[in-house]
Amino acid sequence: METALPFEPCTTCVKFAYTWKSNVGDGPVESVSRNSSRALFGLHVHTAHPAAPAPGPDLVNCADCRHLVTYVEYSGDDVEMEGACATSGDEVLHQHLLSHLIDRVPIPG
Ligand SMILES: [Zn+2]
Ligand SMILES: [Zn+2]
Repeated sequence: METALPFEPCTTCVKFAYTWKSNVGDGPVESVSRNSSRALFGLHVHTAHPAAPAPGPDLVNCADCRHLVTYVEYSGDDVEMEGACATSGDEVLHQHLLSHLIDRVPIPG
């Protein structure tokens, strides 16, 4: 059984989730497209749904989680990531964790 989404998704959430789910191929284009819609979704939830609780890091299956958690633990300082230059490590991690919720967004139809 799927875990329910811990907040009410808006149409933007659904749009990102739809893009994410429709790029199912393993090719580099699909993969980049999936990664960017997931990252944008995390950023969107962070700003548009500030009350949404982030899930715990998935240290087993997600290399980004491992990387970010280690980074925040050891430096806690600015993480250099594309499009997030002035963002603190904690915030980047939080946004990344929120992006994991994309697979719980219900897609109508
Ligand atoms: Zn939303
Ligand atoms: Zn992750």
